[in-house]
Amino acid sequence: MSANDQVNILMVDDQPAKLLTYEAILAEVGANLIRATSAREALERLLTTEIAIVLMDVNMPEMDGFELAEMIRQHPRYQKTAIIFISAVRQTDLDRLKGYEVGAIDYIPAPVIPAILRAKVRVLAELFQKTRQLEEMNQELERRVEERTAALEASMAGEREARIAAESALQVRDEFLSIAAHELKTPLTGLSAASQILVRKVHKGDLDAPLWLANGLRTIEQQVDRLTRLTGRLLDVSRLDHDKLTIELTPTDLGALAERLVAAFTARTTKHTFVLSAEPDLVADVDADGMERVLSNLLDNALKYSPEGGQIDVEVARVGAQRFRLSVRDHGIGIPPEQQEAIFQRFYQAHAADYRSGLGLGLYITQQIVALHEGTIELESPADGGARFVVLAPMKVKVATPVHTP
Ligand code: ADP
Repeated sequence: MSANDQVNILMVDDQPAKLLTYEAILAEVGANLIRATSAREALERLLTTEIAIVLMDVNMPEMDGFELAEMIRQHPRYQKTAIIFISAVRQTDLDRLKGYEVGAIDYIPAPVIPAILRAKVRVLAELFQKTRQLEEMNQELERRVEERTAALEASMAGEREARIAAESALQVRDEFLSIAAHELKTPLTGLSAASQILVRKVHKGDLDAPLWLANGLRTIEQQVDRLTRLTGRLLDVSRLDHDKLTIELTPTDLGALAERLVAAFTARTTKHTFVLSAEPDLVADVDADGMERVLSNLLDNALKYSPEGGQIDVEVARVGAQRFRLSVRDHGIGIPPEQQEAIFQRFYQAHAADYRSGLGLGLYITQQIVALHEGTIELESPADGGARFVVLAPMKVKVATPVHTP
């Protein structure tokens, strides 16, 4: 037993000689032995020291051992202290003993047999130590649980705050973009109309403009066009946020729509070749403007992300009797597999700054418009490079019937 975890044993007897005897018997147990020659002295000791075992004579002049045991038991701190009574065997003593809880109380007849006393004390001392260790472990465990709980609560509170801050920052950003887009719309419309008139006049020869002016006007027209498209996307996002992006379904010849767009995009590039494969008379009930934006966004990306040029395949086909497919395939830089899920998120851009000519909104809006048509858009990565976007949608959008509860 090390000095640190030595247990204290209180020996109570009015005869100092007996105390000396107990001391001699218990010396080898390795406990700290404390003497008391009266019940009062014993109580004083108990108040100041943590006692594991009380060894006491039943017959003492002022207060007998049983009365002292009673008083010890009343103190909450000593309810579990082990008590060993030493007495000449008397029936009355044995009867009184029966009233005590078994385990924490023991009885040794006098004259004491040293080996028995030692054995009993050893067992009780060990029990005390084990209990103390268990309590310490329990306390440590409780402390750790409390610590972890506090840390977890703090981190959850931190995360909650960060999330609220991030959400409100996003809201501010979206509101700002929405206001900016609305404010830009009017001057842009004027600018666009004016530049178109000027370009047309120069083109027709109404204005005798030098080449540099004609080229400058063409650049202005192209950039205004780009600005108009970007602003249009911001407006679409703002409408999506406020559930105001709606579709108006009209029978639309999808082949003709694709042909028109392919012609417009062909005029924008010298490096790419468009190959259109469209089934004739494929008329579907779609929002013509929305479907045009879907195809136009996909074509725009096909051009942007195949900077070396190459073939761009556009397909318009029936899928069974009920659905149609629109697809655009380029041979450009493609999209790494780990980013393929994210590219339909708003503001998400998969490539380095060199390619960032947009806002990361095109595919988000495209997917939302397709979803309004109850369709899907998927990205495929062909084995020989590039990207293929496939839109699948029904020829006729089912109008959801409102559910009425009686
Ligand atoms: P952006 O305005 O940046 O083009 P989009 O929403 O249209 O935004 O596209 C999101 C991202 O997906 C792009 O930034 C780009 O990284 C990637 N992406 C879209 N289309 C293609 C494509 N055809 N080839 C390669 N990457 C593409």
